[in-house]
Amino acid sequence: MSSAVPRGETPVPPVATSRLTVLSGPSGVGKSTVVAHMRKAHPEVWLSVSATTRKPRPGERHGVQYFFVNDEEFDKLIANGELLEWAEFAGNRYGTPRQAVLEHLDQGEPVLLEIDLQGARLVKESMPEARLVFLAPPSWEELVRRLTGRGTEAPEVIERRLEAARTELAAEAEFDVSLVNTSVEEVSAELLALMRIDC
Ligand code: ADP
Ligand code: 5GP
Repeated sequence: MSSAVPRGETPVPPVATSRLTVLSGPSGVGKSTVVAHMRKAHPEVWLSVSATTRKPRPGERHGVQYFFVNDEEFDKLIANGELLEWAEFAGNRYGTPRQAVLEHLDQGEPVLLEIDLQGARLVKESMPEARLVFLAPPSWEELVRRLTGRGTEAPEVIERRLEAARTELAAEAEFDVSLVNTSVEEVSAELLALMRIDC
């Protein structure tokens, strides 16, 4: 078990992390859609709810998609060592609450983190047993279509996210597994199989 410490925080205590899956991929590729589809059939997959300084989108609720916090509250989470990892993404900060993840892993449950590339790297450093899964778009054009078509971000935010997407796509080889999100149903089944849950 590694004792590497992300961003100067307290070390992660030794726990069984083999059931930990990290799903990353460019914004708009379909991560949330795939995870929601999978969890509908398999609610036993525990999904970590991150904290973020981003404002909620219409329909998003505190404690469901995210814990929506302000900058000061996020600073406190960092200072108190409450985050397993955190990163700044396209102008907002996002972080994984540490304790809940460790508790669910301790209970032997399959745990899923849906986080960005920087976060995936930090988790791999502190928990090398974690399986890193990259969700790739069928093409760049399709990624742009999905991100734009979602209609949740202003054009300048879409630009920032596409800029980040180029970096993320270039890092695909760092992941243990890559899945292409052509069909939500197929890719959900592939993800379940990776987590060794019977479809
Ligand atoms: P992410 O969580 O990666 O940012 P979302 O899950 O919000 O992405 O998906 C972005 C958009 O792409 C949404 O409008 C979603 O309905 C659509 N989408 C997701 N997967 C597919 C797919 N396999 N084929 C077509 N559209 C998809
Ligand atoms: P969105 O604003 O579209 O919900 O998320 C933007 C990006 O932040 C996505 O790539 C998402 O996976 C990532 N993200 C969400 N939660 C976390 C987290 O806790 N840590 C990190 N590092 N990234 C996160």
